[in-house]
This record gives sequence, C-alpha cells and structure tokens, in this order.
Amino acid sequence: MISVPKQSEVHPSERRIILKNADNPDYDVSIDCYERHGGYEVMKQAFSSRKPEELCQEVLDSEVRGRGGAGFPAGMKWKFLDRKSGKPIYLICNADESEPGTFKDRQIMHKDPHQLIEGMMISAYAIQAAEAFIYIREEMPLGAQILEEAIAEARAKGYVGDNILGSDYSCDLIVHRGAAAYICGEETGLIESLEGKRAYPRIKPPYFPAALGLYMCPTIVNNVETLCNVKHIAEMGGKEYAKIGRPGNTGTRIWCLSGHVKNPGYYELENGKFTYGDLIYKIGGGLREGRTLQAVIPGGSSAKVWRAGERFSGKLRSGEAFDWAIDDVPLDFDGPMAAGSMSGSGAVIVVDDSVDIVEVLANINAFYAHESCGQCTPCREGSLWMKKITTRMVNGGAREEDADLLASIGDQIAGRTICAHGEACAWPTQSFVAKFRDKFTEKAKEDPEKASKRPFRLV
Ligand code: NAD
Ligand code: SF4
Repeated sequence: MISVPKQSEVHPSERRIILKNADNPDYDVSIDCYERHGGYEVMKQAFSSRKPEELCQEVLDSEVRGRGGAGFPAGMKWKFLDRKSGKPIYLICNADESEPGTFKDRQIMHKDPHQLIEGMMISAYAIQAAEAFIYIREEMPLGAQILEEAIAEARAKGYVGDNILGSDYSCDLIVHRGAAAYICGEETGLIESLEGKRAYPRIKPPYFPAALGLYMCPTIVNNVETLCNVKHIAEMGGKEYAKIGRPGNTGTRIWCLSGHVKNPGYYELENGKFTYGDLIYKIGGGLREGRTLQAVIPGGSSAKVWRAGERFSGKLRSGEAFDWAIDDVPLDFDGPMAAGSMSGSGAVIVVDDSVDIVEVLANINAFYAHESCGQCTPCREGSLWMKKITTRMVNGGAREEDADLLASIGDQIAGRTICAHGEACAWPTQSFVAKFRDKFTEKAKEDPEKASKRPFRLV
C-alpha cells in the first residue's frame, strides 16, 4: 500500500469536509480503512433507495459550484445533459490539475482516493453514465497508481463494474493518464486526448460536452473536488449542504496558498466566510520577516494580478456597495470577480518585495507560450511574442515602448481564440502592465551589464 506524507497541522479556522480524514496520521488509502470510517455507506444508501433524478435534484439544490476554476453550478451542468439523444452518457473526472499554484486535487487523490471513487459512482448513477473516466495528469504518477489500486479494490467489492451493489446498473471506472500538456485540462482538449487525438480544444458552442462530448456523446466533465462534494451532498441533502458557506457560494473550498508567506499550504474553508486578508495573514502567517507585500495573484497564474495597496469599489450583484482593500476581498467565487480578477482554481500566490515583478511575468509568459496548443494564431504567436519581450526585458534589453507593446499584444489575444487559454495568457500581461507600469518603464533604464549578472535568467 502506498503512503504519502501528511500535512501535520490543520488550522483551527478550517472546516474540513472533503479533507476530513486525509491528514489523520492513522488514515490510509485502503478500502478497509475507508469503510471503517463509514466509506461507501452513502453510495449503498443512494443505490438502494434513491432514484437517479432525486440525486440530480439534490446537486441542483446544493448550489455547489464547480471547483475546477470556472465556478459553474454543477447541478445546472448536469441539467444541460442531452438525455434525448439516445447516445451513451459519459462521466469524466478532470484530474489534470495543472494551473500554476494549484495543488489541492492531488491531496484528495493521494490521501483519500475512495472518497473520489464514491463521489464519482454516485454521480455516474445519478446521470446514468455508461462509463466513467478519471483523466489524470502525467506528472502525478503516484496519484494514478493509488487510484488504479483503489478502483481494483472497489471493483472487487462490487462498488464499480457490472451490476453495482446487486442493482441493474453497471458502470466501469477507468484511469487515463495524460501526456503532460496543460491544455489537456481544458475540458474539450481533455476529451480529444481521451479519444486518442491531439488535445486541440473544440469551439463552445456547439461543443459543450453536456451535449457533444466524448465520441460526440453527452458527457459531464467535473473536477475532483466537485465530485467528492457530491458524496456529501447525497449524504446531507442538497438544501442542508447549501447552508454551509453563503448563498451562491455554498460548501467549503480548498484554497492553495503559496509564495512568500510563512505557512504555505492547503486550507479547506467555508465559502464566503473569510477574506484574502484572513488567508494570507491569519491562516498563512503573513509575510516573511522584514518583507512587504508587492502583489497577490488570486486565482492561479491565469488570474489578473492585484497590486499591494490598491482598492476596489463598486456594487455587488445584490446591489450592495463595496470599497475593499485586497485584505477585505471575500474568499469566494464572486469577490475576486468584483475586484476585477477571479478565484479560478483556488490558488492564491503571494509575491513580496524581494522579487522583480517583470521577472514574475516573464516566468508566467514562458509557461503560457510553452503550453499553447498552437491552433489559433493570436494565442500561438501572441503568447510567444509576449514571452520573447518579457524575456528580453529581464535579460537587460528592455525598451521604453515595451509596456505599450505588451499591452497591445494582450489586447489582440483576449476574446479572439477558441479556448480560455487565450485569456489565460493575455490577462496576466494586461494586468501586470496596467498595475505595474512604472516597474515596466523603469526596466528600460536598467544597466544591461547589471541585468546580465542576475542569477536567474530566462532563455
Ligand atoms: P467555462 O466557463 O467555459 O465553462 C465552465 C463549465 O460549464 C464547463 O464544463 C462548460 O462545459 C459548462 N458550461 C458553460 N456554459 C454552458 C452551456 N451553455 N451549456 C452547457 N455547459 C455549459 O470555463 P472553462 O473553460 O471550462 O474553465 C475555465 C477555468 O478553468 C478558468 O477559470 C481557470 O481558472 C480554470 N483552470 C483550472 C485549471 C486547474 O488546474 N484546475 C487549469 C487551467 C484553468
Ligand atoms: Fe490552442 Fe491557444 Fe487556441 Fe486554446 S486559445 S485552442 S490553447 S491556440
């Protein structure tokens, strides 16, 4: 049996539902351990006494929003399933977690794989899936191995496969390993890859997976954390689940805190009950000694950056007026949106004053240029140009016009591509240049000799 290191401390502010057992020292990934802790009881109850449509209604009532990044209501996505086509329905768990700064799904897969399997089999039964897949990224070989072993255990006990738990419902669960491309996390790229093709994303509409997904059949693609939530929704009932967190932001969410804080890590918090200030300072321990905050990237590297000291004001969808500093922004799906960014995959990256902000963007740009699938000209060419410009800037060749040039390239990409990778590569550049224009302009005055001696150089 495989074991992985545990996070030694659970912060008192956390409300652990998904990670309830994951870090207990005596908890392991075996099915015996899972069953000893009540595992598969919810599934047994669902299969023996609940109709599939009742379970779909519970998910709708729970108002749970997708934890992969977009925050789309999962119950509504399930409702969009084209059930009239007569084609088989597929369920896919998107375990291709690869947004820079995101490391929550791997905790679940590494430490509590049966919770994911139970959540998936309840979901598969609810949507009447013919087959279910876990698409896991290549860089998580341990996770794939753990899941394969766990599925074999679950199959042997009748939780997966033919006539599950003696019912007339059959569904196999298959682990599919990706091939180390970020774009395979985009749901339609993932589907192409699962079909054995190059992961070129499809245009949505018409190719929303709920109607035209795997093999052009209705398909639900949900994130690991979302599917685990289904187990708890089935257990407590959708309306009861919706009491956790806040309306429109129900349940808990696992936040990944990284960068220049004293206590980086993952923290499962009730949605909408905390702020970015709580996460960074009270839970994350604040910045390192003698350092000050320079920036926060609130939702993984694809999000728009915030500069320390900036304020956000406006009106929420509820009509309520707000005037926030970064610290006041609510830690939910909508707060970052109101503050001009997004909470994305729950990754919060803290940047202190010890680093060159142009270098931060150069790093991000190198990533997106490498990961563009190359299908659309603005993304393929633009991401490469932005990488070349920011690399030249950090290597001592910055020019005064670079800030404008970068902003104009970003403007030519966003909204002009097949998939959201276009925005993902444009938004960092657009927001870094807008918020830190002085730093980009100062770069042109830098002595090339000094830049050439910098320890970190991009190529
Ligand atoms: P999206 O808003 O286009 O779609 C969200 C989901 O809702 C999809 O499953 C989509 O099929 C469904 N949907 C939306 N409208 C629909 C409709 N009319 N009919 C049927 N289904 C509909 O977002 P996306 O492109 O899937 O995801 C973007 C997000 O992914 C970003 O916010 C980013 O944070 C995140 N992301 C996460 C990771 C990670 O590692 N977790 C990596 C990269 C990006
Ligand atoms: Fe590929 Fe980029 Fe176009 Fe997405 S936006 S399809 S990643 S080229």
